[in-house]
Amino acid sequence: MSAVQIIDLHKSFGDLEVLRGIDATVESGEVVCVIGPSGSGKSTLLRCVNLLEQPNSGTIVVNGAEITDPDCDINAARRRVGMVFQQFNLFQHLTVLDNLTIAQRKVLKRDKADAERTAMENLEKVGVADKARVYPATLSGGQQQRVAIARALSMGPEVMLFDEPTSALDPELVGEVLGVMRQLATEGMTMLVVTHEMQFAREVADKVLFMDGGVVVEQGPPSQVIAAPRHERTKTFLARVL
Ligand code: ADP
Ligand code: MG
Repeated sequence: MSAVQIIDLHKSFGDLEVLRGIDATVESGEVVCVIGPSGSGKSTLLRCVNLLEQPNSGTIVVNGAEITDPDCDINAARRRVGMVFQQFNLFQHLTVLDNLTIAQRKVLKRDKADAERTAMENLEKVGVADKARVYPATLSGGQQQRVAIARALSMGPEVMLFDEPTSALDPELVGEVLGVMRQLATEGMTMLVVTHEMQFAREVADKVLFMDGGVVVEQGPPSQVIAAPRHERTKTFLARVL
């Protein structure tokens, strides 16, 4: 059984068809990187997998559960899929620790001690346990993004989605976030990652999807899609970013 199966996914905003029949699969423990030009529908694809957007048609199955089924419990489905955004999206009025415990307590109904124990484990994992008591604004962008990753992990997701997690960071802070993501990949986390970091995709991805104009133009191992692209559109894109 695949961790994520996306079948003929369509999504429009008004007259604009942003996803025009996406088929993609992420196997359990795999890292799949999504690359492609701005506006090609990468964020919309991830947002559909987390049900932040409602697809117009098509099917998404997460570990056997069809989350696009109208009878599916949206909150239960969302819990199984963690998401990390470009802009971190931490709650600025809460300490780092409270950022990690609030959803555990409200959504998973964990008690305070249990939620804090899980939070501290995940802050340690991403290397910012010493920042538990401070507010996000006092942290660097790289630290904030690592906190955001720890927050998502604290919910015990089956799949992690990353939407350009390093694009808002100063160049010298990109490495620490990619390092945490590499570690997660090594530990067997299933990950779907939108990124412009071609070196990361080349080294960590099991599979790369190149999207353009709302379709997957080309997909395969990085040795194929990045190192030896077959399609003209993929070649043009890579020539710009590499
Ligand atoms: P990418 O992440 O690849 O840059 P997006 O998925 O963000 O692409 O956007 C794809 C297209 O959908 C863009 O033209 C964008 O303007 C449009 N779009 C995205 N979200 C919305 C929305 N909520 N309402 C209207 N148009 C949107
Ligand atoms: Mg985007």
